[in-house]
Amino acid sequence: MFWISLFFIGACFGSFFNVVIYRLPLNESIIKGRSYCPNCYHQLSWYDLLPIISYLCLKGRCRYCLKKIGISHLVIEVIGGILFVYCFYQYDLYKMIIVYFIAMVLLVIALIDLKTFNIYDITIFILFILTIIYRLLTSFDILDMIAGSLVISSLMMGINIFIKDGFGIGDIELMFVSGILLGFNNIIIAFMIAIITGGIYSLFLLLLKKTTMHSYIPFAPFLTGAIFFMLQYDNIFIF
Ligand SMILES: [Zn+2]
Repeated sequence: MFWISLFFIGACFGSFFNVVIYRLPLNESIIKGRSYCPNCYHQLSWYDLLPIISYLCLKGRCRYCLKKIGISHLVIEVIGGILFVYCFYQYDLYKMIIVYFIAMVLLVIALIDLKTFNIYDITIFILFILTIIYRLLTSFDILDMIAGSLVISSLMMGINIFIKDGFGIGDIELMFVSGILLGFNNIIIAFMIAIITGGIYSLFLLLLKKTTMHSYIPFAPFLTGAIFFMLQYDNIFIF
């Protein structure tokens, strides 16, 4: 029962981040205004907003206009729940809260980039604040933080000099802040993982002829995935 409650709390946060992912690109306030259906604009009641349960009861449709709600809604709520349970199991209380919100902000960055090809400054700023708190709770090694922030972000800027439209400015900002989070060694490994996985993905798309050499692929999902992996790597595999 205890773990189910934890999962449900995490799913509620997931539901909140769904709102963030939807409203941020539209420049709408995230806290003000009740939730509404993006199709018929009908205000939603509390029983429409129960994470996971509402979605399943309504079979993924709006109660009022019956328009299908994207499966991503459900997926984010489930991921929110799983991550909450995982973080609770893995960390002490303070660190758990910080790591959970870092993970969710990374997820928001990845999904908004997928949707809009854009990374919003406010999400980077929140990641920065969480990063500083995380570092205060773990090891506040200033030199490692500075070196980590600069190593990959400056490399990306260097590459951009030679390749026009190489990396987006948002990707570079993301690696700057994540460098503070992970430190010098791990940010380099995270970047390599992102390059390799992103490269394999692009190659697949090219082979399937779903893309051309000149089209743009959102890179943030690969970066954020690798960043979260390396954050865990440090925690799970202590040599
Ligand atoms: Zn509706």
